[in-house]
Amino acid sequence: MTPRARCATLLASAAAFAACGTPTAFEQLSAVAWTQTAAEREALCLQTFADALAQVKAAAAVADTSKPFAVVLDVDETALDNSPYQAANVLDGKGYDKVAWRSWVGEKRAAAVPGAPEFAAACAAMGVTPIFLTNRTTAEEDDTRANLRAAGFPLTEAFDCVLTKGDVDDQSDKTARRAHVTEHFTVLAWLGDDLGDFVRPADTVDGRLEQVRDNRARWGTTWFVLPNAMYGSWERALAARAGAPSPAAMQQALQR
Ligand SMILES: [Mg+2]
Repeated sequence: MTPRARCATLLASAAAFAACGTPTAFEQLSAVAWTQTAAEREALCLQTFADALAQVKAAAAVADTSKPFAVVLDVDETALDNSPYQAANVLDGKGYDKVAWRSWVGEKRAAAVPGAPEFAAACAAMGVTPIFLTNRTTAEEDDTRANLRAAGFPLTEAFDCVLTKGDVDDQSDKTARRAHVTEHFTVLAWLGDDLGDFVRPADTVDGRLEQVRDNRARWGTTWFVLPNAMYGSWERALAARAGAPSPAAMQQALQR
């Protein structure tokens, strides 16, 4: 089923959610429907990759050439669109589940985030190596590589261009893997859907906002963020503020 067909099913089934969907699944409905149907989401993705490519071209003309050039992309919701997995969870009334996630990764059918493969291919054509920095596991690397290739991404053989969670320091935090890349490359652009793709994210809502504001000059020049309303490290900060990631906690965080 295509993401849009699945979403049509999802929307048609909306009336059933109140009766059978768990709170976790229900909270996902609006975010997944937006991801799969809003033209604005596609526009945001295309806009981000177009801006990133323009900046990469400009930076390549003036950057330090002592190392080869690279761009670093996160995988999930930056290069690959996992919204069908999220939609299946909504339809099945489930939350995130490791076994189901592993099965989805094994299907290798995640579509590309709009504009991402064209961006990566244009960078590669300029001699700028796309590096994928992901918190998928080492066990998921072969399937991830196959999915990326099938979705149109160029993968270099000259460097381990898919750095999974098991690489370098086996941490979810990407700081050490970012350092590993910058040891070997001059990175012209970083792209991700989560604050953790750019910095080690703070634990609180206010701390995270401060990190974004402290790095104001980087957004749109070397840092490019893709939209992801479905999940992310923001949820942990919200849970820390409100006590638990529940519908009640989320309601408490709303501002009229
Ligand atoms: Mg991601």
